[in-house]
Amino acid sequence: MSTGRALHLRGVQKTYVSGDRTVDALAPTDLDVEPGEFVCLLGASGCGKSTLLQLVAGLEPATSGTITVDDTPVEGPSSDRVLLFQDAALFPWLTVEDNVAFGLKHSTRPVDDQRQVARDWIARVHLRGFEGAYVHQLSGGMRQRVALARALATDPSMLLMDEPFGALDALTRDRLHEELESLWAATRKTVLFVTHNVREAVALGDRVLVFSPRPGRIVADVRVTLPRPRALEDVAVMQQAADLMKVLRRALDATTDDSRIEA
Ligand code: ADP
Ligand code: MG
Repeated sequence: MSTGRALHLRGVQKTYVSGDRTVDALAPTDLDVEPGEFVCLLGASGCGKSTLLQLVAGLEPATSGTITVDDTPVEGPSSDRVLLFQDAALFPWLTVEDNVAFGLKHSTRPVDDQRQVARDWIARVHLRGFEGAYVHQLSGGMRQRVALARALATDPSMLLMDEPFGALDALTRDRLHEELESLWAATRKTVLFVTHNVREAVALGDRVLVFSPRPGRIVADVRVTLPRPRALEDVAVMQQAADLMKVLRRALDATTDDSRIEA
């Protein structure tokens, strides 16, 4: 199993150009993430968080700067860096098992092995018994579990998660936090996790990077050393979230719509 790799950004900047409109989405950014670190990216809508994830995923080229994973420059997408979204993006015409096995198709493993790996991951995300189910038969939380199993089955070194639990109810989100934390502890993948929820960032992260609005900049890099496992309702989590909220508010321009920030 591959454990997490280190990530390095040097002067990474992104300007989108469409027609005569340009958007400076990300100011020149330096960032070092250690192998196996869980890093949360926190900021209001439009701060360039998703942009940073897309650049690391290799789905968008940086306008300038370099991104390296260990010592290898990122030059395009790779199955070593998987992106997970709020919308689990599963194939509705495939069963749970086929969805999870899908990413393994190009592996050199024999098909029987691929099936076994898929079933193992389905069990690890607590969906044993749902191997033959279709997406429309699953709740939102179950779909995110399938997406997580599909991502981990390919044994990437890095998980890039873009507000993956944003659409879930609070109880389901709590459960998924616990499960993600324990899967991360067991696999030691490097995780970049985007959220606009301050408590979620504190509950999950080893570090929280606070972004300011356009062009997005990292204005604070806060270490969270609270013991794990953590829960959203832990007093210490709430206290650190309150402190972080102040940092975030300072980072927000008075004119910026911060309605999507949740304490
Ligand atoms: P966040 O994820 O923090 O909400 P994004 O990275 O999605 O922010 O967006 C940052 C800025 O870049 C926003 O102003 C957004 O409108 C703009 N943007 C994002 N993607 C594109 C794109 N493909 N083309 C043009 N502008 C974009
Ligand atoms: Mg986004």
